[in-house]
Amino acid sequence: MICPECDGNGFIKIPGIPDPWETSQNPFTNEKEINCPTCEGDGEIPATPAAKHCPACGEPIGPGQDWCDEHKSAALVGGSLG
Ligand SMILES: [Zn+2]
Ligand SMILES: [Zn+2]
Repeated sequence: MICPECDGNGFIKIPGIPDPWETSQNPFTNEKEINCPTCEGDGEIPATPAAKHCPACGEPIGPGQDWCDEHKSAALVGGSLG
């Protein structure tokens, strides 16, 4: 999905610090473009895969898991809890 931080540009503008020694300068000349820290310059962030949740407690779990860590062991040893 498009990075909301930089609107897909991959960079964001930060205001520069005006040089106190330099007078009558355009403040915009100090504006800097830096790599967007959110998407690291990609302009897009990976869409989060559909999160699975532990059926017992609703904790988010990894894609290859059926239970959270807490209930994984319980499911293995306990088997069917009826
Ligand atoms: Zn970004
Ligand atoms: Zn759980």
